[in-house]
Amino acid sequence: MAEIVIDRVVKRFGSFNAVDDIAMRFADGEVACLLGPSGCGKTTLMRIIAGLERPTSGRVLFGGRDVTGLAPRQRNVGMVFQYPVMYPTLSVAENIALPLHYDRSVSAAERQKRVEAVLDVLDIRDLAGAYIEELNAGNRQKVAVGRAVARQSEIVLFDEPTTNVEVNAKLALIRAFKAVTQRLRQTIVYVTHDQTEAMTLADRIALMQSGKIVQYDQPQELYNNPTTEFGGWFLGNPGMNFIPAAVAGGRITAPILTEALPAPAGLKPGAAVTLGIRPELVRMQGEAGPGTVPAILTDQAIGIAGRYLTKARIGDVVIKVNTEGVPPSRLGGTVHLCAPRARLMVFADGVRVAT
Ligand code: ATP
Repeated sequence: MAEIVIDRVVKRFGSFNAVDDIAMRFADGEVACLLGPSGCGKTTLMRIIAGLERPTSGRVLFGGRDVTGLAPRQRNVGMVFQYPVMYPTLSVAENIALPLHYDRSVSAAERQKRVEAVLDVLDIRDLAGAYIEELNAGNRQKVAVGRAVARQSEIVLFDEPTTNVEVNAKLALIRAFKAVTQRLRQTIVYVTHDQTEAMTLADRIALMQSGKIVQYDQPQELYNNPTTEFGGWFLGNPGMNFIPAAVAGGRITAPILTEALPAPAGLKPGAAVTLGIRPELVRMQGEAGPGTVPAILTDQAIGIAGRYLTKARIGDVVIKVNTEGVPPSRLGGTVHLCAPRARLMVFADGVRVAT
């Protein structure tokens, strides 16, 4: 069992809480991504799990065992960093095999078997005899991953491993990570600020903001049902629209609505209420129709795969719309927007309210 439990962990640097009282559980055999903007505390939390950083308070448990006081090497975790540490005078296969030499329980035959299995799953068998300095950054990272997983430790930690890999090699590297994680079922914690990487790799994503986990969910759930404005904004390209709304007499009104919505129960008086909707769920058409509101097309970027990213203004509220096909008007012209009611989410003071 390699479930990881983070039990009310705080990490303070001076008076600043880099990790702010986090309690969570990474399930055995799952790939969890820690995702969030720069400085939100992802790396600090990962370093605490690795034992490279001691928490100011709280505990870390692996499979029910308290490891808070243990050094990294006593924790038996594999690690992959931004800058892999490699031995240039050894071949790829020798680099992967190296940590296994220190494990007396692994025979030479077993060592060979594991190295070959890793070379296969990472699709680098043809590089087995190459030296590290002959490899590009993407393949170096594959070797680093191979070395981390060949030990068969129950937990493997990744800290932004694609940061220094050029765009074209990135995809192949992520594909290799995916193959490894699906095959080996080790418990994996993967730190990234890249939402595409997290959406591709993770069984579940822990979204972080200011030292806290704001949501821990499956990727699609995080995208479709953000519990905070921050989550709706951070995920998506571009993120969700938040349209300022007014609440009076149990009804919500907003510039995108043709009819007021019933206000959800429990809405605090005076709360800042917004209606959230993803740009691809707003409909834009040339003619007025049921539920549409007129708007001025202010911005039109050519998108990909026949979709256009546009902006349209209703009064002084700007709404991002991802259209299917060419927008129905020129810039500066009038378009008609419809935000389907079932797709609108209500947020109060930045937090989703049940509707
Ligand atoms: P990035 O993606 O930029 O690495 P991150 O989410 O991984 O960001 P951390 O590296 O965990 O963030 O840092 C969280 C906060 O803690 C940052 O504001 C950082 O400046 C601060 N911090 C991290 N390590 C230290 C340290 N040793 N001393 C003081 N402050 C630190």
